[in-house]
Amino acid sequence: MAQYEITYRCGHTDMVQIYGTNTHGERERKAASYGYRDCPACQAAKAGQANKDAGLATLEGSDKQIAWAEEIRGKYMPRYAQERQEWADHGATDEQLAKVDKVLAWLKGQTSAAWWIDNRFSSSTALRAATKAVDGQGA
Ligand SMILES: [Zn+2]
Repeated sequence: MAQYEITYRCGHTDMVQIYGTNTHGERERKAASYGYRDCPACQAAKAGQANKDAGLATLEGSDKQIAWAEEIRGKYMPRYAQERQEWADHGATDEQLAKVDKVLAWLKGQTSAAWWIDNRFSSSTALRAATKAVDGQGA
């Protein structure tokens, strides 16, 4: 193992531990591969901006929680929009779609980073939790 100073696509640098054999320069190639992605902080900032652009609520929590939650909802929300479209295409009733819209609106307005982290295991886990919360409101 060895420490490599790597430069991300965004220009930020970091020291990373790269493991494995290096008989054919594998570690240098791995180190160079960091040049094709942004550093974690820039990735989080980008995910945050994309979520903001998508109209999602501003998250509350520690910086670390927020960065993590931005990544989770940045992955799940577009998936839900796509699933909603598929349900609509496959004959979901207006009533069913109204229910889905209510849940999606609840998710969009979710400001707790901790909630996203607690429900990160899969997009269906988060959707189920949101549906339960909406039902609990007597909706
Ligand atoms: Zn960066």
